Amino acid sequence: MTFDELGLHPAILKALVDAGYTQPTPVQEQAIPAVLNGHDLLVSSKTGSGKTAAFMLPVLHSFTRIPDAERNTKTQKQERQSARSRGRAFRFQPAAPKMLVLTPTRELALQITAAAAQYTKYLEQIRTVAILGGMPYPKQLQLLAKNPDILVATPGRLIDHLQSGKIDLSALQTLVLDEADRMLDMGFIEDIETIVDATPADRQTLLFSATLDGVVGKMAQQITQSPQMIQIASVT
Ligand code: ADP
Ligand code: MG
Repeated sequence: MTFDELGLHPAILKALVDAGYTQPTPVQEQAIPAVLNGHDLLVSSKTGSGKTAAFMLPVLHSFTRIPDAERNTKTQKQERQSARSRGRAFRFQPAAPKMLVLTPTRELALQITAAAAQYTKYLEQIRTVAILGGMPYPKQLQLLAKNPDILVATPGRLIDHLQSGKIDLSALQTLVLDEADRMLDMGFIEDIETIVDATPADRQTLLFSATLDGVVGKMAQQITQSPQMIQIASVT
């Protein structure tokens, strides 16, 4: 199977050629069509099997189909300039991403953000921002003012911005929980619940985890709807 056969947008295919990806990995082959079809997913497959592209590519593809008028096409700065040129007052708008990726650590968040930058190389109007613990607050506000379509975040820091009204999740289409088992091990369960409660009930939810039983399975049951299971056995 090829990425072309999965029906991805030409701008994404071109970026994949540049990244040196010649064919989808097994988890990508199964997850990409399922995400494109709007399913919720529960996925377990080993580290290094290509899970980031498995959720990122189909969601990016779906973004290419949203009319510009419904997209976050302008940064706060551009909004301010356009309000001023029309003689209107500028009102601060919270960042309202369409996709949120929750991940346990800074390092993973930065890796996912870097992957998104690679995959959107030819989709320049799609912006991704990382919100991480330890990053200075003014810097984060500056990033949020880009009105990103995609937010990659560690749960604790995201909660701070939700509570202060800097992030609005009411327009979210896709919620990704990456390394869900690790997030639960790190004690993020309440934060995750608070975040999920701030998202629309009809969102698409994609959960990735080393295991899908125990606490993870229980949470998965609560936050997904008729999920499709994808379990890729590790060949060792
Ligand atoms: P996981 O999240 O499953 O641990 P990643 O998404 O981080 O895996 O991907 C692991 C590595 O494999 C990354 O360097 C990524 O760029 C690369 N990769 C992902 N998909 C492909 C592919 N289809 N072809 C070649 N390399 C890929
Ligand atoms: Mg990963």
